[in-house]
Amino acid sequence: MNRPDLLDQLARATQERAQRGLHRRLRAVEHTASGRCRLDGHEFIVFCSNDYLGLAAHPDVIAALQRAAAEHGVGSTGAHLISGHHRAHAELEETLAVWTGRERALLFSTGIMANLGVMQALLGRTDTRQPGLCLQDKLNHASLIDGARATAATLRRYPHADVDAAARQLAAHPNDAALLATDGVFSMDGDIAPLRALAALCRRESATLMVDDAHGLGVLGPQGAGSLADAGLTQDDAPILMGTLGKALGTGGAFVAGSAALIDGLVQFARSFVYTTAPPPALAAATLEAVRIARAADDRRERLRHLIERFRNGAAQLGLPLMPSTTPIQPLLLGDAERASAAATALEQAGFLVGAIRPPTVPDGQARLRITLSAAHRDDDVDRLLDALAALPRKTQADPASDSC
Ligand code: PMP
Repeated sequence: MNRPDLLDQLARATQERAQRGLHRRLRAVEHTASGRCRLDGHEFIVFCSNDYLGLAAHPDVIAALQRAAAEHGVGSTGAHLISGHHRAHAELEETLAVWTGRERALLFSTGIMANLGVMQALLGRTDTRQPGLCLQDKLNHASLIDGARATAATLRRYPHADVDAAARQLAAHPNDAALLATDGVFSMDGDIAPLRALAALCRRESATLMVDDAHGLGVLGPQGAGSLADAGLTQDDAPILMGTLGKALGTGGAFVAGSAALIDGLVQFARSFVYTTAPPPALAAATLEAVRIARAADDRRERLRHLIERFRNGAAQLGLPLMPSTTPIQPLLLGDAERASAAATALEQAGFLVGAIRPPTVPDGQARLRITLSAAHRDDDVDRLLDALAALPRKTQADPASDSC
């Protein structure tokens, strides 16, 4: 017998990744306050978290979690359709639907599971329908791509934000039911999708638009209702909205919002909803509090906008390779993976935690520092980060020739 060993193959792939300098390392941090953490015994200012509004350590959110855990226990005890769907989940779903201007919302344990669930329900194999078409922006989150790949649908990825290319791909499949899925705010570039043009295209072509607003919810739009609300688009324009709760809301989990018929369909066919234990009800209670705060948090959104502008102005003065983002995700494109790792290490030595994002998360040659800002940061935190960026050794700074995004 000459059967290859799977674990050996995995170990070789891991080794090969390490040899290319792309090994991923898991490190345990202790968040000591919003925007601050301790790691390996040292204190850091965190510029890589998604806690955009600084709610992860908000005292009212913490108190809501504690109260609900004391009253109802920790675990949900089962799947939503069995024993696990608590009153706190139902209340949160109603609140999320109202906030995002949708008829109904459905909770999922994570954003990844929500995206998989939508794809399963809309594009999964059944006896009664033709496999459809799924169009996706090239830079969409991995879970949208993976979700579509796991269905029988034809997946076509259009060049980033290229609505004309998406239109050509749709026109090439005039008889297929079509889902067009896009991030609202792109997680690694920080730019906002051309949502109005995509919605117009979908309306013209009778395709269904899905928006993953993981990074827009809480940050953009009136009352932080997200990138669609910011673009003036409603449920009619974008019938499927996915939002995550572990970013601006500071807790964890995700939801899909849309028509009552969509949500009922997900309850029937989204396997990542049906076959998993519901999240702890205390987490739903904490999120309910976080949504209440986030909706009223124009002051935090204003503060965030101020910090984004302060960072961008400072970085521009230093000649740093900013990307065209107006959101709290402010990548600095360094090109080479080693250069990005070296820059992150140098910043760490200066007391800043910043993510080096390397292939395969981003395309080859587009490694970057992914700097994220939070309303919890002080002006002085941003100024000190800029000083640290200015002090990076020359070889870790940008090579303009690599600025090819
Ligand atoms: N979509 C996007 C655009 C994301 O950035 C993320 C998280 N990185 C997810 C979905 C997944 O969400 P979760 O972390 O809740 O699984």
